[in-house]
Amino acid sequence: MNLIFIFQRFCEIIMAHKLIYYGSDTLKKVAEEVRNIDSELAGIADSMFNIMYREKGIGLAAPQIAISKRLITLDISDYEKVPPLVIINPEIVERSDGMEPYEEGCLSVPGITGDVIRPSAILIRALDINGREIRIEADGLLARVIQHEIDHINGILFVDRLEEYKQKELRAELKMIKKLNRAV
Ligand SMILES: [Zn+2]
Repeated sequence: MNLIFIFQRFCEIIMAHKLIYYGSDTLKKVAEEVRNIDSELAGIADSMFNIMYREKGIGLAAPQIAISKRLITLDISDYEKVPPLVIINPEIVERSDGMEPYEEGCLSVPGITGDVIRPSAILIRALDINGREIRIEADGLLARVIQHEIDHINGILFVDRLEEYKQKELRAELKMIKKLNRAV
């Protein structure tokens, strides 16, 4: 083993980001605004895409890998003609009056799904990975994923939005999921 190899392995180990689960404090915090869009941030976004694809998710927010930053990745290209997106410091500028239910799930709450009612269309303003301002008008699945991920950076999980009776029904399962954090 040469030194370069050892150094590379060391970097891989310290850079290894992992999913965290329901019950973790980072998922309950309002994440910090991204101030520097640099190679470090691009590296985090890359890790997020890798984890998202590996876990067969369509969206991920940085707090889900224990990084409390307002950074989101998503890829719904299997369902709609939208390229993979990196969304930084998003702000919802407009919401439709029309609301709709949709069955949501979350990589941080594995095995659980539930209907969440949200505005069916939104307009957001954000930055892309090059620091350019972007505006996205979204409806359907895209609006759904963006709102779910913006909730994450505000410390909210989709299960927090389920009706009370449903939350009660899920209590035992959620308790089991909390334990996954100990194995991470
Ligand atoms: Zn989620």
